[in-house]
Amino acid sequence: MDTFLRTYNSFEFLHPSNKFAGNLNQLNQSKSQFQDFKFGPKKSQFKLGQKDCVKASSSALLELVPEIKKENLDFDLPMYDPSRNVVVDLVVVGGGPSGLAVAQQVSEAGLTVCSIDPSPKLIWPNNYGVWVDEFEAMDLLDCLDTTWSSAVVYIDEKSTKSLNRPYARVNRKQLKTKMLQKCIANGVKFHQAKVIKVIHEELKSLLICNDGVTIQATLVLDATGFSRSLVQYDKPYNPGYQVAYGILAEVEEHPFDVDKMLFMDWRDSHLDQNLEIKARNSRIPTFLYAMPFSSTRIFLEETSLVARPGLKMEDIQERMAYRLKHLGIKVKSIEEDERCVIPMGGPLPVLPQRVLGIGGTAGMVHPSTGYMVARTLAAAPIVAKSIIRYLNNEKSMVADVTGDDLAAGIWRELWPIERRRQREFFCFGMDILLKLDLEGTRRFFDAFFDLEPRYWHGFLSSRLFLPELVTFGLSLFGHASNTCRVEIMAKGTLPLATMIGNLVRDRE
Ligand SMILES: Cc1cc2nc3c(=O)[nH]c(=O)nc-3n(C[C@H](O)[C@H](O)[C@H](O)COP(=O)(O)OP(=O)(O)OC[C@H]3O[C@@H](n4cnc5c(N)ncnc54)[C@H](O)[C@@H]3O)c2cc1C
Repeated sequence: MDTFLRTYNSFEFLHPSNKFAGNLNQLNQSKSQFQDFKFGPKKSQFKLGQKDCVKASSSALLELVPEIKKENLDFDLPMYDPSRNVVVDLVVVGGGPSGLAVAQQVSEAGLTVCSIDPSPKLIWPNNYGVWVDEFEAMDLLDCLDTTWSSAVVYIDEKSTKSLNRPYARVNRKQLKTKMLQKCIANGVKFHQAKVIKVIHEELKSLLICNDGVTIQATLVLDATGFSRSLVQYDKPYNPGYQVAYGILAEVEEHPFDVDKMLFMDWRDSHLDQNLEIKARNSRIPTFLYAMPFSSTRIFLEETSLVARPGLKMEDIQERMAYRLKHLGIKVKSIEEDERCVIPMGGPLPVLPQRVLGIGGTAGMVHPSTGYMVARTLAAAPIVAKSIIRYLNNEKSMVADVTGDDLAAGIWRELWPIERRRQREFFCFGMDILLKLDLEGTRRFFDAFFDLEPRYWHGFLSSRLFLPELVTFGLSLFGHASNTCRVEIMAKGTLPLATMIGNLVRDRE
């Protein structure tokens, strides 16, 4: 079978500028969502005053964004030698956190692995935030660079929640260095290119790269993130979108406690002087997420939790500029910025299929939160063990096992029924969030963060499975105000019916 820019695998994100481009086969339905995203040039005609560092205009803010700095790791990577024409056990397409985690673990078992990425030494561009317990469980505490002992949520001007759960920023340089070192030690070979096509034969697959090289492999793992390059979908792709604009900035001062990270700030008084934006924010709200590193250095991200279609980046940047001005945050310089467009929910890929998947390409982003890095790193050993077992079984058998049989067994372990049910519930959560305006969202999170920690921790970290999720839902309902209950019943009935229908249809 030949896979090349198929329908439904219809968009790609181009790092590091995060341009968002439609592919040739883009669906009409998708187009109407995507046309809202335009990532224009960063330079504007506005000049920045010396003292007036932040006007309530995003142009002034964007003036401070440096030209994108591409920082590469200082490594000599052992490169794949195309002239040898060998069939490797596994090709991992995409060298993000999920791809490298699997490459490292499969190669540890003595299997031959080739990792293909257009920029294999580039330090990952995103600022990843995680709950510390998630990384502790994976023995990755050394890959966190800053931790906060607790987090805070501003529900509105009067009400705040203190979240007694340590949060951290991932040290992406350290995490990638650690993974690459292990890969190199285990004999992983690297190829710097983009895979543009895969051709499947009965016992192997051929990966055609954009530099003309063809690499042969028994198994192929697509770890290309949201670009979903190789994994196939057979249902219309209709996710919600988390859209956010973040800056790592040097500021004169900021009002936040440096011991707490700001998980969500839903206050909207910064928009009191602009009723048009305030009305827009009331319909589809955005919140501020912030990681204060010191009294003058802070990561600030204005975020639309989920919307369909996603909010325009310019809208988010404008809201952020108003907020910073209101908070008295004067930005002196910007070290880096990030434009985040994360598809959430939507259908799972075809299960099973010949190409394996992990991460964004395999539907692993949390449909209610947009978080993924901890979930995919935790899934990597499951995928790796399954690949190792199936490949070793295949090698020890006299008769050849087809590539389709191998892939089917591994997909079963990647998306077992309990994980599919869990995802269905999270999509139900997303469907409710999509319908809530600012007031509804505030009421929802007011109840959510009042839950017992095991519930909200478990929900955010994908640790609750269907029976516990039902109890979680009942508990949330119990904690909700009467208005919130009525709202959940009114807006959640249809999504609930959809979820139940999907759960009934999806059997082992
Ligand atoms: C700006 C931003 C901020 C985020 N913040 C968080 C956060 O705080 N916490 C969190 O949990 N998640 C966050 N996410 C979600 C995040 O994308 C994932 O958690 C994480 O990057 C997933 O890793 P991955 O390996 O699956 O994919 P990616 O990191 O996207 O890596 C995919 C790799 O595949 C390569 N690739 C793509 N196509 C091809 C091809 N055809 N051939 C070869 N290589 C290819 C790409 O170049 C890239 O290196 C954020 C996302 C964005 C965009």
